[in-house]
Amino acid sequence: MKTDYQQILEELYHVIKVKPDAGQVAPYIPELAEIDPSKFGVHLAATSGEQSGIGDHREKFSIQSIGKVLSLTLAFQQRGEVLWDRVGVEPSGNPFNSLWQLEYEKGKPRNPLINSGAIVICDMLCTLYDDPLTELLAFVRKISGNEEISCNKQVAASEKKLGFRNAALINLMKSCHNIDNEIDEVMDLYYHMCSIEMSCEELANTFLLYANHGKLVTTGEPVITSSMAKRINAIMQTCGFYDEAGEYTFKVGLPGKSGIGGGIVAIHPGSYAVAVWSPRLNAKGNSVKGMQLLETLTSKTGLSIF
Ligand code: GLN
Repeated sequence: MKTDYQQILEELYHVIKVKPDAGQVAPYIPELAEIDPSKFGVHLAATSGEQSGIGDHREKFSIQSIGKVLSLTLAFQQRGEVLWDRVGVEPSGNPFNSLWQLEYEKGKPRNPLINSGAIVICDMLCTLYDDPLTELLAFVRKISGNEEISCNKQVAASEKKLGFRNAALINLMKSCHNIDNEIDEVMDLYYHMCSIEMSCEELANTFLLYANHGKLVTTGEPVITSSMAKRINAIMQTCGFYDEAGEYTFKVGLPGKSGIGGGIVAIHPGSYAVAVWSPRLNAKGNSVKGMQLLETLTSKTGLSIF
């Protein structure tokens, strides 16, 4: 029987929306701290072409760390397996901006979805391209099928001004010879990547690629190989939620990635990509209601990968 995603989303949305508010909006920069915490939306894009959504699912927000998956995909497409010489594929079990493990492991980040790993990926893109931000945005626009996708320059500038821990991470990696380009150039790209804005609808459609074995659903064009899509999904599953990756996997059972803008995107390989946005975060930096909604979605439909 065909699953009626619209009906399921509507039901879950209303149940989760009225749950007690827990967590707080990301306090790091004014642009994120001022977001209305009651925003809540969810959108599901199926490989069959079906689109379902409710709430603030068409409102743009800062995708933040969700962008790390997109920069990784471009670098992996361009560099292939040698990418893994400079960044690992192990869960860190630590917060996204943790420093101690990086020093202990001589400047090689555990995985590309924590800050240090995403910074190394940005360094690779700086080596590959004269104008890496333009290339990254062109890539994101292509896979999203949306020429309007862009960054928020004010968010990027604010983060750069206040990103003291990220500055520590890149300096540590530079001292370990794992950063080739100028620190300023790499951090500029990193913060612009984090400041990309998308709605749940745009995010779900962009991430449909990973549910469709690396091919665009709209044209069938392969962007990455199915083996690459499988690997990126595996990294999302094991590393996408930092030191909460185990708990997220236990509860939701789908590859996914969160961002401190309150967004989460999750993939059901072969079936759909779903994006949810609710700005209140738990102590690990993951959206409280986003996690609740996804947990209920996979429990209710029985559609998880496990
Ligand atoms: N821009 C944020 C940072 O660099 C991204 C963190 C996140 O979304 N988890 O810290």
